[in-house]
Amino acid sequence: MTTKEQAPKPAPRRPTVERSLSSLAREDVDIQVQNQLNSITVFTRKNGGDVEVLEFQPKDDPNGEDIYQVSSEYLRLPRFLDALKKGILKIVDADDPAVVEAADKQRAAWDAQQTAKNESDQFIDSQQVKAFSGKQCLAQEGRLRCSEFALFASNNSERPPLCQKHAYLAGQFVPEETGKFTNGKPEVEWRQVGIVQ
Ligand SMILES: [Zn+2]
Repeated sequence: MTTKEQAPKPAPRRPTVERSLSSLAREDVDIQVQNQLNSITVFTRKNGGDVEVLEFQPKDDPNGEDIYQVSSEYLRLPRFLDALKKGILKIVDADDPAVVEAADKQRAAWDAQQTAKNESDQFIDSQQVKAFSGKQCLAQEGRLRCSEFALFASNNSERPPLCQKHAYLAGQFVPEETGKFTNGKPEVEWRQVGIVQ
């Protein structure tokens, strides 16, 4: 919390956070970033043809999944800088023992999750239900296709790819088998059967 003074004085001109971040961005180092919200925060960026998805657990997550190590390239992304500026995400010092501890916990939790994944796809599905997949939402917004990413669906044949906002439209889409198979399961494409304006 901050208190405002009646007559604001000009702030002393120290090197701005933005300037020091942009110099860090050119160094190509890894940074540790922590979610500052008490809710899951998802950050995506397009990297070539791929979409990188960072899903931060709420701050002080017991498994350390509120902290991710990312390339300082992220500091070149206006949306990322915006998230830092708004205090949604925070760069935490990698030399801080607590940060190293959190990273260790995160790695251990990830290993455990990989083991669990082999044992139970359902478990993973429930863990990641709020994450976003790299698929573009199928919904139309007027004449344009929605530009949001679809919610994570481990099995595309079970749910049509729709973003959080359009998830309620799921009943309007029916799966059609393409004739191809992935891991022994038929691939499907989703076709919209009803259009609500
Ligand atoms: Zn959408």
